[in-house]
Amino acid sequence: MSEYVAPIAEMKFVIEELAGLEQLNTISAFEEATAELADAVLAEAAKLAEEVLSPLNRIGDVQGSQLDGDVVHTPEGWREAYKTFVESGWTSLAGNPEFGGQGLPNLVATAVSEMWNSANLSFALCPMLTQGATDAIEHHAERKYKDLYVPKMVSGEWTGTMNLTEPQAGSDLSAVRTRAVPEGGHYRITGQKIFITYGEHDLTENIIHLVLARLPDAPEGTRGISLFIVPKFLVNEDGSLGERNDVRCVSLEHKLGIHASPTAVMSFGDGDGAIGYLVGEENRGLMYMFTMMNAARHAVGLEGVAITERAYQLALEFARERIQGQPVGPSGGCRVPIIEHPDVRRMLLQMKSHVEAMRALAYVCASAYDIAAKSPDRDAAAYAARRGDLLTPIVKGWSSETGIEMASLGMQIHGGMGFIEETGAAQYLRDVRITTIYEGTTGIQAADLVGRKTLRDGGAAAGELLAEIDADTAALDTDDPRFKDIRAALERATADVRAVLEWMSRVQREEPRLPAAASVHYLKLLGVTCGGWQMARSAKICRDKLAAGEAEVTFSETKIATAHYFAVQAMPQTSALRETIVSGSESVLVLDAANF
Ligand SMILES: Cc1cc2nc3c(=O)[nH]c(=O)nc-3n(C[C@H](O)[C@H](O)[C@H](O)COP(=O)(O)OP(=O)(O)OC[C@H]3O[C@@H](n4cnc5c(N)ncnc54)[C@H](O)[C@@H]3O)c2cc1C
Repeated sequence: MSEYVAPIAEMKFVIEELAGLEQLNTISAFEEATAELADAVLAEAAKLAEEVLSPLNRIGDVQGSQLDGDVVHTPEGWREAYKTFVESGWTSLAGNPEFGGQGLPNLVATAVSEMWNSANLSFALCPMLTQGATDAIEHHAERKYKDLYVPKMVSGEWTGTMNLTEPQAGSDLSAVRTRAVPEGGHYRITGQKIFITYGEHDLTENIIHLVLARLPDAPEGTRGISLFIVPKFLVNEDGSLGERNDVRCVSLEHKLGIHASPTAVMSFGDGDGAIGYLVGEENRGLMYMFTMMNAARHAVGLEGVAITERAYQLALEFARERIQGQPVGPSGGCRVPIIEHPDVRRMLLQMKSHVEAMRALAYVCASAYDIAAKSPDRDAAAYAARRGDLLTPIVKGWSSETGIEMASLGMQIHGGMGFIEETGAAQYLRDVRITTIYEGTTGIQAADLVGRKTLRDGGAAAGELLAEIDADTAALDTDDPRFKDIRAALERATADVRAVLEWMSRVQREEPRLPAAASVHYLKLLGVTCGGWQMARSAKICRDKLAAGEAEVTFSETKIATAHYFAVQAMPQTSALRETIVSGSESVLVLDAANF
């Protein structure tokens, strides 16, 4: 099995042509983020992903992380890889310069994260969770806590975790029971958290846990949850490490995939209670977590993109080498590599077109968040924030669900060898399977998309999106039959989305369960539509460049052919989804729970 190769040309195209790096570069906070700098960053990241992280992927899968007492050992080579990762400054790429970060746009960091995830998903989870915890402290904690924790988390000297889940509180965090009792300037935390990614490990000397807990007099439900910083080792005022805190990993889960990522059961306060420090105000913890959730959800959607890319590379390599059967058609004759078979090509194109569509959408979403966070133009920032909020559940839900389908196709292309562990195809399918579950299941993403992101504003953000797609569709030249097909597919898709929006706003008043029953189909409908939109934009840009003699011909012609494939093979499903939603949603509600 060959190692991962970062698709740099593809990433550059999306960053520069679709997600608008040049436009970001005009914002003063990103004045250093030129195309040249992005190129250099991508090239360096690719080396680490290809030469260090990718070779450890299988070792991580086979050895897994192991618990010994309350110490977790990561697999062979991981400590050295983490050291290299930190020393090369990768943990601080998009970090706030005030705390030692490099302040690059999320857009560039997204491409770099895609590489980490393709090369080694289990490894990439550690910096991903640290980023979430760092953001929570940076945005909501008191200054003294920011100064004490954020610089060391940005530098990667310490890692961070998100301790939300408890046995009775998964999707529904209102049921959190972990207790926090005030004691002087801090709190004593007691309780158990489950499924905590990198809750314990041997990569750094300290781990900063962000923990949701409830005060003794807190109101019931989501309004009574607070957020605490609970370091593994207490931190003295001068930043040096103090005593071991009363928090321990009591077991590691045995999982289908991501074996090297330690998924810990964490026990807080087996002794006197773990010392914790309140982030922001009491009882507002869940709201603080929500501000972080978009970034984390986007990051998990990106995992779906990344594994699809890796699974595609593996399947393509296999399809070029595996000799089996004779070509279809009159020529017949000698046995051929399986890539010559039309059905194998269909599967490869399915993977290739979907990874391109998903990548484009994820990067465009990241760029929207950059504009929202840093643009001095308030209207532009507000518009971009609405767009980012709308796209995030789609990036998370659609890319993770599609990632599973694509990793499965990757296995199919391998035939029997795909089912055998040595090829690596099976690992990608096992690893990607979690992405539709953590950071909110697909059902939770779809509920967010329908409720908060679509119906709450009366479809305004969705309307803005459709108007932009309409404008881009109208600009497609129909002289070329391929573009005629792409245009027709987009016109049909936007009509399907509009019909569903009209249906949802009509039925929600009489039967609010109907939009909920349709929600995952709606998420997929928007995923395919937005993916097709980005593919159409790509094709048009390539065609314009070809016409101007400015394009790399093979790259551009391949892009147009792939966009055309997506339009005629993937996009027709929008009409089936519309029909399923409008005519089929009631069928979901017919049976009583007892009759299943
Ligand atoms: C490997 C791994 C790593 C994890 N890492 C972390 C971590 O670092 N930190 C952390 O805090 N947690 C972590 N989790 C927990 C993860 O976020 C939860 O498993 C996830 O949120 C789902 O919760 P649950 O498992 O309790 O499922 P449940 O909430 O019980 O859901 C079960 C099913 O019911 C559906 N469902 C539930 N409620 C609704 C609803 N309102 N509407 C529609 N459908 C609904 C779900 O979609 C799902 O299909 C991790 C989990 C795993 C497996």
